[in-house]
Amino acid sequence: MTITRFAPSPTGMLHVGSARTALFCWLWAKRQKGTFILRIEDTDRERSTDEAVEVIIEGLKWLELNWDEGPIFQTHRFDRYKAVLKELMANDHAYKCYCTKERLEALREQQIEAKEKPRYDGYCRKFPAQPHADTPYVVRFKTPEEGSIVFEDLVRGRIEIQNSELDDLILARSDGTPTYNFTVVIDDWDMKVTHVLRGDDHINNTPRQIHIFKALNAPMPAYGHMPMLLGPDGKRLSKRHGAVSVLQYRDEGILPKALINYLVRLGWSHGDQEIFTTAEMIEHFDVHNINVAPTALNPEKLLWLNQHYMKTEPEVEVAKQLAWFMAKLGIDLTKGPDLAQVVIAQRERCKTLVEMAEKSRFFFEDEVVIDGDLTKKHFNREAVPALSDFIQALEAFPAWDKEVIHDALKAAVDKHGIKLGVLAPVVRLAASGTMASPPIDMMLWLLGKEKTVARLSDALAQLKELA
Ligand code: GLU
Repeated sequence: MTITRFAPSPTGMLHVGSARTALFCWLWAKRQKGTFILRIEDTDRERSTDEAVEVIIEGLKWLELNWDEGPIFQTHRFDRYKAVLKELMANDHAYKCYCTKERLEALREQQIEAKEKPRYDGYCRKFPAQPHADTPYVVRFKTPEEGSIVFEDLVRGRIEIQNSELDDLILARSDGTPTYNFTVVIDDWDMKVTHVLRGDDHINNTPRQIHIFKALNAPMPAYGHMPMLLGPDGKRLSKRHGAVSVLQYRDEGILPKALINYLVRLGWSHGDQEIFTTAEMIEHFDVHNINVAPTALNPEKLLWLNQHYMKTEPEVEVAKQLAWFMAKLGIDLTKGPDLAQVVIAQRERCKTLVEMAEKSRFFFEDEVVIDGDLTKKHFNREAVPALSDFIQALEAFPAWDKEVIHDALKAAVDKHGIKLGVLAPVVRLAASGTMASPPIDMMLWLLGKEKTVARLSDALAQLKELA
């Protein structure tokens, strides 16, 4: 059975690159009807925080990347790591190293001066010491000195590393805490992980981890290293490129489905298909089809996808997400129309939920604030008689529907022989405070009779004041 895992270190935000790794692991598990595990690699106590754990969990939940097992915390497994460490030492696969910081620093300097790659020279392996009982030590792995490690990377194909390139890595620090390369092996082994998919920043760790698997006689997973993500300018991705955290995308008004669709295409493709339902992704995703080449982020494409999903997702679903942004603006949703109807009215003209919330607040607020420049441009005395008739007609209607509103507007301009272009901007501006609002009949219908009549009457009074 296929078992994948997402194993973030909780040291910061949930990065877009990590989210892609999580998605690929999740998809491969789903495709193979396997299991997806969430493991929190929190052994680095100085850099790990509870807040970062929460951010990871919140981000995965928002993206609906639900895990079948976990979250499993490495800090809960220290006893197990200790037991395996003992076993490795007993079987002569690991040894205590008493080298001091000073010695290691001097060694490093010498090597750099001699233009060699800095590495541990195996001193304590060659000359086992019998120091005083409380001399501090680290535990190092005895990396085979001869031969090489070969593995078939799922993304990059065959990789071979000479063992002479690797030094004896530390398995446990002087305070007894285990290191990443060690815990990850024990966990992948105990959790029966079959596929390790992770960023290619880990590619140098893989041969080291394989050595530990071999020393433990444990079955090895298959490895696949994801290509690096680049900024839109083709440079290494960094904060200066704007949003790189999943929750930041959420806060900027991106729908989770749009972000998932965006992520899946970062380094993976299926023909030239751009839009994928979750079911299609699961059906077509294959770890063997992941690209080797680095992929650049494309914010325009994300916005395009977002608008696509805002237009095509059921309005009730979009409304659920929109409600969060309305709440952030302090809007009381009981004071206006059904939010799903607002989504229908607005979705053609908004690229993000933030934009949709901003453009829809006028439906719920008691009053609209109209920009002075806009009134100067669009409010005009010529519209007074028609506007007055339009208000009267609206007030007189027993029913409130789009068609009646539309007919009354037309009747008012026809009666006074003015162009629709004279009255319509006044109505639009008075009702919504902006010129970028939905079609007038739809907008007034959603706004309701009371607010419409009050806002138009205010505008009428202002128009009458104009010279
Ligand atoms: N904890 C590692 C990280 O966040 C990932 C380790 C792995 O996937 O093997 O980079």
